[in-house]
Amino acid sequence: EEQKKEEKPKSRFSFFDFLRYKTIKEEDITDLIEEFRYQLLEADVSYEVSEKILEDLKNSLVGKKVSRSEELEKIVLDSLKKSIEEILTKNRGFDLIEEIKQKGKKPYVIVFFGVNGVGKTTTIAKVAYMLKKQGLSSIIAASDTFRAAAQEQLAYHAQKLEVPLVKGKYGGDPAAVAFDAISSAKSRGIDVVLVDTAGRMHVDSDLVEELKRVVRISKPDLRVLVLDSLAGNDALEQAKYFENNVGYDAVILTKVDADAKGGIVLSLAYELKKPVIYLGIGQDYDNLIPFSPDWFIKRIFQ
Ligand code: GDP
Repeated sequence: EEQKKEEKPKSRFSFFDFLRYKTIKEEDITDLIEEFRYQLLEADVSYEVSEKILEDLKNSLVGKKVSRSEELEKIVLDSLKKSIEEILTKNRGFDLIEEIKQKGKKPYVIVFFGVNGVGKTTTIAKVAYMLKKQGLSSIIAASDTFRAAAQEQLAYHAQKLEVPLVKGKYGGDPAAVAFDAISSAKSRGIDVVLVDTAGRMHVDSDLVEELKRVVRISKPDLRVLVLDSLAGNDALEQAKYFENNVGYDAVILTKVDADAKGGIVLSLAYELKKPVIYLGIGQDYDNLIPFSPDWFIKRIFQ
């Protein structure tokens, strides 16, 4: 019995044992706050986001009395979770599957925007895979008719996933491809249409007109902007560009696996102020996860 007690792992916060049995004052936690500040900045969390998290942490500790270090740990973790949730308020409670089922519209149409290279094609394949696993059928509209590689890549994924695909003629009308896919979905009773769009990088007013036309014709239930989490400020610029020109409802951040610490993604999500519905965490079909505060806490403070 004695030995068992000894073996019990110590709380990570036993280091702050001196805080036990007293009412915590602000000056008592200076070191603790400094340690967290260091960890947040080390994880590439932006200054603004870090300060918000630390301010919340201070507020949740000052004036409390704790008798065990485990209690302290719980207060700290609850506070971190709450702040991250608050920072990402708009990300809370958006469940795409739930939304599709609740809306009950058949087909539910999702249009994907994103600059070439961000991972849009891969993301569409991942979403088709996820829908299939949830018992929802889908069809892909390869509406980027100017990029042969995009059509081929989507055809490859569609075949592997056994999901139907509507291709366009090279240089054909992208909106017509979306229209055909939606008609096909209607006649075959398919639940969801996933519409790819062009993402030519150079400033191109034709692209904006093209995207607007695709939106007008396909009347999407959801417009998803795909952003590369490693692109940093570029990602924010892209978000602004799409917001000003076509508008979007939600974001999927890709290549999050390459941001080892998670801080960049947290800061980016904070700046975007739009729901980030999924994170891409690798190249496989199942490497798409819902956006959750727990994921960040684990990553940043593991
Ligand atoms: P698109 O031009 O936007 O359609 O981009 P692709 O879907 O072709 O992706 C570009 C590259 O990024 C490919 O090599 C993908 O395998 C890779 N990629 C996409 N998403 C992720 C991700 O979440 N993590 C990692 N590590 N790579 C990704």
